[in-house]
Amino acid sequence: MYIFREKESLQKYLLKLRSGQQSIGYVPTMGALHEGHLSLINTSVAQNSITLCSIFVNPTQFNEIQDFEKYPIQVEDDIQKVEEAKVSILYLPNKEEVYPEGMTQLEKYDFGSLETLAEGAHRPGHFQGVAQVLSRFLKLIQPDKMYMGQKDYQQLLITKALVKMLGIGTSIEGIPIRREEDGLAMSSRNVRLSERGRKVAPEIYQSLKNIEAKRGQSPLTQLLAEANAHLQGNGLEVEYLMLAHAENLQPEDDFKDHPQILIVAAWLEGVRLIDNLLLT
Ligand code: AMP
Repeated sequence: MYIFREKESLQKYLLKLRSGQQSIGYVPTMGALHEGHLSLINTSVAQNSITLCSIFVNPTQFNEIQDFEKYPIQVEDDIQKVEEAKVSILYLPNKEEVYPEGMTQLEKYDFGSLETLAEGAHRPGHFQGVAQVLSRFLKLIQPDKMYMGQKDYQQLLITKALVKMLGIGTSIEGIPIRREEDGLAMSSRNVRLSERGRKVAPEIYQSLKNIEAKRGQSPLTQLLAEANAHLQGNGLEVEYLMLAHAENLQPEDDFKDHPQILIVAAWLEGVRLIDNLLLT
């Protein structure tokens, strides 16, 4: 595995690879890697001759400084994991490398309502930050495929829109959510939960499953209110819990025939957890 910290040397190396007609799969991450990241990496390794993984905790996508400062960093451990997973190239830039022009006057992208709904409503500027970092990495790497988790479902939709906007030929591959045995969606932030917090956190997913199981039996508003009350009763503070159109995240007030998704964000012990469930 080759490790690059500078874009010039990475770019030169990629140029050589491309002339040899190698397909490049790309997995962007912020590190503190877990099985969820590894399922993206494994899919890329299976589908491409070269897999490139980046680890960069992108300051511009954090709307709370404490969240950025508390983000777990474990680079040595991560290097070992990606090497074992047969990643060919690891890109580990620092912020000066990614934002040589500084981070105060960055470009803006227009994602319409996709940016102001759900996560966008509660994390102002978050998706601009995601787009700012991914546009730089996509232009540099020009991968054939980029692998993104459905855990960050709105980010997946934003990324698809970004690729169209940039006119880049990269295909975006959405990978299903990896969960712990008790249903909790794997996340780098889970390590910040106490033992007690870790025990109640799976209630988030259970609430989504419960709504799905009872669809058609009670009105949606009642199911959402019950789930809200259940989560609050377990010490979780729900930021939003809603049913939405799976293609554009517009809120929906009833179950319909087109693809829909239940999405949730909740706070537990100062940790913000998100999850979702695609309804089939
Ligand atoms: P992050 O390091 O949190 O920015 O995540 C990097 C990528 O891994 C994103 O595309 C995430 O959606 C994806 N990811 C994170 N957690 C999971 C999970 N539990 N299952 C599947 N993909 C995940």
